[in-house]
Amino acid sequence: MKIHEYQAKDLFKQYGINVPSSVLCERKEDIEECINNISPPCVIKAQIHSGARGKAGGVKIAKDYKSAVEYAQTILGSELTSSQAGTKKVNKILIEKAVEIDKEIYLSLTFDRTSECIALIVSPQGGMDIEETARNNPEKIYTLLIKDDFNPEPVMRNLGFNTEITNKICETAKKIYKLLVEKDILLAEINPLVITKNGDVTAVDAKINFDDNALFRHEDILSLKDEKEENPYELEAQKYGLNYIKLNGTIGCMVNGAGLAMATMDVIKLSGKSAANFLDVGGGAGSDKIEKAFKLLISDKDLEAVFINIFGGILRCDFLAEGIKNAIQTLKIKCPVIIRMEGTNKEQGIEILNNSGLRFTIVKDLNEASEVIKKL
Ligand code: GDP
Ligand code: MN
Repeated sequence: MKIHEYQAKDLFKQYGINVPSSVLCERKEDIEECINNISPPCVIKAQIHSGARGKAGGVKIAKDYKSAVEYAQTILGSELTSSQAGTKKVNKILIEKAVEIDKEIYLSLTFDRTSECIALIVSPQGGMDIEETARNNPEKIYTLLIKDDFNPEPVMRNLGFNTEITNKICETAKKIYKLLVEKDILLAEINPLVITKNGDVTAVDAKINFDDNALFRHEDILSLKDEKEENPYELEAQKYGLNYIKLNGTIGCMVNGAGLAMATMDVIKLSGKSAANFLDVGGGAGSDKIEKAFKLLISDKDLEAVFINIFGGILRCDFLAEGIKNAIQTLKIKCPVIIRMEGTNKEQGIEILNNSGLRFTIVKDLNEASEVIKKL
């Protein structure tokens, strides 16, 4: 789960990490008062779940009151297209006291799955061009795999600051580490972490991704979820315990088991099409859950066809057929539905579909499915 910059900065504050003072603004009529509270120079920042907002025009530095109001009016309510997240509506802006930047560094803590360690990653070349640094000067990016006690000093010395500033950066890193561990965070990133002209170390940006599988033990974090930022289909799927991810293709697919789902997406791709989604209904789904899943699938406007590929093990093919039949009867779907069923109660499943009076293309295996999809 992702949260907004302003929420991440609240957490930073709770852990004693320096952040600039700021106010959140959600309504155009509040803009002037908010800016008065901060008093320019200030920075107007779009609050959307995306990085690279600066390059997309979502971060503007205002020297005076007038330009601050102008920027805020323009950014709040606008649609922002970033390289990372596509187009998103800006429903909130953060109005933040500008800091006088001497140096921008990159600092993040995340998981390194290969070494099974938490990794600290730092670079003296932080800021908006960190991707270029990673590409062109990878030697300027330093990684510390944290095995036992966390001692960031040696790696921080590479950044080339004096002892006082190096110590401040180390303190910041330790606080982020504590936050990461206590809140089950997968990625905590500060880019840029700024060294100000006065020699302070301040987090100018803040990005946090939480481990969804640990959210059950962090109600405070769960309450930070902004449903407007989530994909509506995925939100709906979460309610029913379905593993659903929206994709860009035109073939909707419903499968049981993640491995089979991936194999099915491969077959669709080999047939010259792309999957409109990933949907794993899981092993033990009953007809009710199948019906919900199918309705969700079909609500996608991009569909050219639906491909249902089920291996009936614990999930019985007759339950599946019943669920699909019920869903189609109430939905009146127009696109072709291709079904491949194998396994437990397959015959009964096919019988239910054949007797339903509805039209399906039942295929015997993946090769035949591929042929049908090719001809769409
Ligand atoms: P991002 O583009 O989504 O990563 O947004 P950031 O919050 O990182 O802001 C982008 C850039 O704006 C930063 O790298 C800074 O160079 C600049 N910036 C942000 N806040 C300030 C500030 O208070 N003062 C100054 N001078 N620059 C800032
Ligand atoms: Mn940033």
